[in-house]
Amino acid sequence: MNQPAFRAPKGTFDFVPPRGEAILAVRDAMAEPLRHAGYGYIETPSFEETALFARGVGESTDIVTKEMYSFTTRGGDEVTLRPEGTAPVLRAALENGLHRGALPVKLWYSGSYYRYERPQKGRYRHFSQVGAEVLGTEDPAVDAELIVLAMDAYRSLGLTGVHVVVNSLGSEESRPAYRAALQEYLRGLDLDEDTARRVEINPLRVLDDKRPEIQAALADAPVISDFLSAADRSHHDMVRSLLTDAGVPYRDDPRLVRGLDYYTRTLFEFVHEGIGAAQSAVGGGGRYDGLSELIGGPRLPSVGWALGADRTLLAMEAEGLPLPGRSGVDVFAVPLGEEAARTLFGVVAELRRAGVRADMSVGGRGLKGAMKAADRSGARLAVVIGERDLAENVAQVKDLESGEQQGVALADVLGHVTKRLASPA
Ligand code: AMP
Repeated sequence: MNQPAFRAPKGTFDFVPPRGEAILAVRDAMAEPLRHAGYGYIETPSFEETALFARGVGESTDIVTKEMYSFTTRGGDEVTLRPEGTAPVLRAALENGLHRGALPVKLWYSGSYYRYERPQKGRYRHFSQVGAEVLGTEDPAVDAELIVLAMDAYRSLGLTGVHVVVNSLGSEESRPAYRAALQEYLRGLDLDEDTARRVEINPLRVLDDKRPEIQAALADAPVISDFLSAADRSHHDMVRSLLTDAGVPYRDDPRLVRGLDYYTRTLFEFVHEGIGAAQSAVGGGGRYDGLSELIGGPRLPSVGWALGADRTLLAMEAEGLPLPGRSGVDVFAVPLGEEAARTLFGVVAELRRAGVRADMSVGGRGLKGAMKAADRSGARLAVVIGERDLAENVAQVKDLESGEQQGVALADVLGHVTKRLASPA
């Protein structure tokens, strides 16, 4: 076989049918609970000024130090393909003055994200997320609402193996004391140079180190839950009890941290065990009460999540669920001869306009080839027109399952087909 001259760049791949329809259906399912709950759709550019991410996501994070696709434009601007959606959405909300209207502002978005990662199953350089952000309220009810809406999305896809893990990172009231205690503990460990540097810059990030020897050394590290202020604790307890009220079981993990620096208080991750330990998060998010100020805005306490569509599809495959999303048609038209093709072209256009999923054989195929195409299309009905039919102004409507066939006046094809499709096969 000839090798193609071009391949998708390393760490990226294509979605071709039927997985193409499946990834679209996954995104739709993630968006549906949000639209249902009154969230408005927002779309931002796929690239932003590099400084937005450096400041917003955090200078010492892996994303900013190792994973960004950054470049200088021909005009000399420093830009980066977005590695995540929260900083851009907040930038857009501030720029468009959404925060000056009624609060909270509830937004959702869907798109492509780019990270220069080491490619492996579930970890790609181009991936897609559906995200949600609630801007401008400290109310723990919205933290809980977002978690419930995400779990509803996973459930609507038929997934049973997704669970949610929650933690609180505390606010500025609690974090400094915890940070100091953690730093003191970590300085007592025998760490490599890179990790030791991280202890000084951003000790919380060390908790996220996946190496088993580091995880073992962290067994006795202080946990944030012992350092939460009364207000932080009551916020966290409220989130947890609202989840219980909504019938969403959760697991506490006092060591949960995430790869972005902007989180405060509530932090959560949606986990699926079926897609490999290092990539088990199918989604995640948290509260980021200080991010707006970090990027030059007013105080705007907010919370949000992003769900990974690619990994969610992998999780569905791991559970053996059928691929979501419908493709194919219900009616397939088979013309025999040029004149019949012209007539059927109009009939098919009419069927489609009336909402019937219909396709047609092209290229002047003979009956056998065209009927094969009809079978492949998944259609229930074939509409066949031969020369005799043309002369009589009829079409033959054939049930592709039973093989039974019936002549129908051309003018009645739409009505006949609609009625047949409405009754169970
Ligand atoms: P994050 O923005 O890191 O919180 O990621 C949110 C979700 O996006 C994760 O839980 C994953 O499902 C997905 N995700 C993040 N990075 C990647 C990647 N490199 N490849 C595929 N999915 C990803």
